[in-house]
Amino acid sequence: MKKKIAIIGAGIAGLTLANFIKRNSDHEFMLYEKNESLSLDEGYGIQLSTNSIKILNQIEFNKINDKKIFHPKAVDFYNIQNKKICDLDLTQFNKGQSKYTTLQRSTLIEFLKDEVYTQHLRFGKKIKEVSELKGKVLIKFDDNTNDLVDIVVGADGIFSNTRSFFEKKKNEPKFKKAVAVRTILKSKSDLTIDEENISLMMGKNCHVVIYPINKNKELNVVCIIREKKYDPDNIKLLVGKVIAQNSDLEKVFKGDLKSWPLYFTPQILPSTNNKVFYIGDAFNGFLPTLAQGAGQSIESAYELFNLIQDDKAEIQNIYFQERSRRAKLVKRRSNINFFAFHFSSLIMQTLRNFFMKFLVKRKKFISSYLGTVYKN
Ligand SMILES: Cc1cc2nc3c(=O)[nH]c(=O)nc-3n(C[C@H](O)[C@H](O)[C@H](O)COP(=O)(O)OP(=O)(O)OC[C@H]3O[C@@H](n4cnc5c(N)ncnc54)[C@H](O)[C@@H]3O)c2cc1C
Repeated sequence: MKKKIAIIGAGIAGLTLANFIKRNSDHEFMLYEKNESLSLDEGYGIQLSTNSIKILNQIEFNKINDKKIFHPKAVDFYNIQNKKICDLDLTQFNKGQSKYTTLQRSTLIEFLKDEVYTQHLRFGKKIKEVSELKGKVLIKFDDNTNDLVDIVVGADGIFSNTRSFFEKKKNEPKFKKAVAVRTILKSKSDLTIDEENISLMMGKNCHVVIYPINKNKELNVVCIIREKKYDPDNIKLLVGKVIAQNSDLEKVFKGDLKSWPLYFTPQILPSTNNKVFYIGDAFNGFLPTLAQGAGQSIESAYELFNLIQDDKAEIQNIYFQERSRRAKLVKRRSNINFFAFHFSSLIMQTLRNFFMKFLVKRKKFISSYLGTVYKN
């Protein structure tokens, strides 16, 4: 049955859902974004593993300009002094056109917005009030416009405002006591790394990830540093703690630095309204240590689209069961990685490195630790 759908938030999750509805169904939909435009200047890189690429290829991501993306073949693990520990072959997860991919977030947003057109996007929209009317949901926006819809999809990120209108139980995101700092490196890094791979350097209370984001040899650099408080005016000092562990990293962090505090969602909670669904970070916000935030946003949008298409009863239940199963799996691994990447004690680092060298070549372990996440 044809439905009217309001998607709140035009990030990766909301735009992915909009693409599937637009291309593969005749449901009516509108994307409501609080900002006045799409944030195309956020230049940070993202990694997309094969689970999300396989889904994106169904909306012709495989036709994207090849120069704008990269397919790293491995993750190289180093200690913070740039001494190699081991490497993980990423090509083992690739299948046909579904290849592990790195790119700029803005490249993905550009691609996703192309098919949606302005006729399905409304900017400067924030919900003011919601109510039920004739079995539908009436949304009133703060600019005094409204929409009467069959389904509301909260895709408004980890601090989802949509949740506060529909859910009594609060699930406030928690600060992980860690800060992410990122920059783009346009020239060679001077580190002894293969710049065509993903390099992950693990130090005391921090780790640095460097990877190519296109064929122009531009590198995304992101550093996660454990820190009890987030102070945006203190970022140089914070990065200083990383550079103190390897002075060669000074050049890497010389450019424009952007920072943000790391938050995660403490609980995975279902929607209490049958007409309301949450996707992407609004469903659950992950730590970035498994690089699955965007991937899970894409997966959740795709799962919800298929359920709406099938028009099954119990959609809410089926969606929550499957989504929470996936989210728990990713959450567990992201937490383990966060813990293991930041050991401060030398003994723990030595033990970790020993086990990593051993495990990374164990097919059974890799297939249960990563294969289950990347499979889809
Ligand atoms: C350091 C770091 C590195 C990362 N690296 C990776 C990676 O390598 N791979 C990966 O897969 N993921 C990564 N992620 C995570 C990933 O970026 C996010 O999980 C993903 O972007 C979430 O998408 P989303 O659409 O759910 O939310 P968002 O991208 O937050 O989009 C939400 C949208 O909703 C809008 N909005 C907000 N409030 C309202 C409102 N009240 N009304 C209307 N609109 C609203 C916002 O303006 C925004 O456009 C990383 C995250 C961090 C912090």
